[in-house]
Amino acid sequence: MVSQQILKKYAQLAVCIGANVQKGQLLVINADVSSAYFVRLCVEEAYRAGAGQVEVRWNDETVTKLAYQHESTETLCQIPPWQIERTKNGIDRKCCFLYIESATPGLMADIDGDKLQAARTARETAMEPFEYYTMSNVGQWTIVAIPTLDWAKKVFPNDDDDTALEKLWNAVLMSVRVREDNDPVAEWHEHNKNLTHRSKVMNDFNFKSLHFKNEIGTDLTVELIPNHVWEGGCSPAKNGAVFNPNMPTEEIFTMPYKFGVNGRVYATKPLSYQGKMIDGFRLDFKDGKVVDFSAEKEEETLKNLIGFDEGSSYLGEVALIPYDSPISKSNILFLNTLFDENASCHLALGAAYPDNVKGGADLTREQLTALGSNYSKIHCDFMFGSPNMNIVGTTQDGKQITVFKDGNFVI
Ligand code: ZN
Ligand code: ZN
Repeated sequence: MVSQQILKKYAQLAVCIGANVQKGQLLVINADVSSAYFVRLCVEEAYRAGAGQVEVRWNDETVTKLAYQHESTETLCQIPPWQIERTKNGIDRKCCFLYIESATPGLMADIDGDKLQAARTARETAMEPFEYYTMSNVGQWTIVAIPTLDWAKKVFPNDDDDTALEKLWNAVLMSVRVREDNDPVAEWHEHNKNLTHRSKVMNDFNFKSLHFKNEIGTDLTVELIPNHVWEGGCSPAKNGAVFNPNMPTEEIFTMPYKFGVNGRVYATKPLSYQGKMIDGFRLDFKDGKVVDFSAEKEEETLKNLIGFDEGSSYLGEVALIPYDSPISKSNILFLNTLFDENASCHLALGAAYPDNVKGGADLTREQLTALGSNYSKIHCDFMFGSPNMNIVGTTQDGKQITVFKDGNFVI
C-alpha cells in the first residue's frame, strides 16, 4: 500500500534528520516487531550514512500484555541486571537512539492500574541514572511512528481495514512531510529554520509569565523560569550533531517556574497513560502544584499519574502550537501523544528539560531544583489548545503583550 520508495524516504529521514547518526557511531533502535519491515530499512539507511554499528532492541506489545496478565506484580518489578547493563553499555559507547512507535491505543485498558504503576516505577527507577542522556540532549535521540492496523482501527473505527490503514499512513506521512514528489530532508531544514526563528522571537521578549484563557474555561497563569530558553525543532547534542527529537514536531517549548503556576486548565484532547485513555479532564493549580482535578473518563488513572511521585503534580513544560498548524488542521485524533501534542498547545506534568534554562544541561539536579526546575521520573504531555485560545505575555517590566489571538501567534 505504501510504496517502498516512500518507506525508504521516511527511513532516511528518521536516521539522518531525526537521529542524525554520525560516522562510526552506534545507533540503538527500539521498536515493536510489527514494524520490522521498516526497522530493516532504517538499519540499511544507517549503515549507508556511516553508522559504525546498529543494534535493534525488539519489543512485542502482545507479549508485554501477556506478561501483565499472567505475571505477579513482584515479578514485573524485577528489572533484569542485563537490561540495565545493556542501556549503560550503549550510553558508555556514546550511542544515538531511534525509537519507533506503533503502540495500540488503549491496549492495556483492562490491566490493573496499580500493577502498571508499580512496574513503571520499578523500570523508571532502574533506568534513572541514564535519563540525563536523552533529557539533557547529551546524545542524539528521536521518536518516529509507524502505523499498524490495530492502531488505525482505533483512529478510524468506521472504515474497513484497508481504508483505515491507508488513512492513518496518509496522515502520518503528511505530518512528517514525506511525499512521493518532494525532498523531505530539504523541507525539514526549512521547517527547523522556521521553528528556530519563532523560538528566537519568544526568547527576545523574555516573558515573566504567560496567561492562557479560552471559552471552555481555561484561565491559567504560567510563570516562566528566570533565564528560560524557548526551543523548537532541532537541537545539538554534545558531539555537535544536530538532531530532531520528535518527528513530527510543530511546537516551541520552554520551562515553567515550578512554583509559579496558578489557575485552572481544561484538557482539549484525551490523554493516553499506561495504555488507558483519560478524557474530559481539568486540573487546578496553586503555586505550581495540582491541588484539585477531575476527569469524565479514567479519573483513577489521572490520579495515578498526578501521584506518581513528588514532581508529577508539578509542570515541567509549556509548549505553544498554532491552531492552524498542519496536524491541527487535519482534525485527526491520532490517540498518540507524538502526533496529538503537535496539534495543540500543551503542558507536561513531570520532569523539565534542563536545556530549557540557560546553561541547564551542565547543572546538577540539585542546582536545577534550586532554580525552580521540576524533576520527576515521568514526563507526560497533555493538550489544552483550542481555536479560541488567547495568550497574553507579561514582560519583566510589566508590559502586556498579546502572543496568541484566537489560537494563533500574533507576534
Ligand atoms: Zn512538547
Ligand atoms: Zn513534552
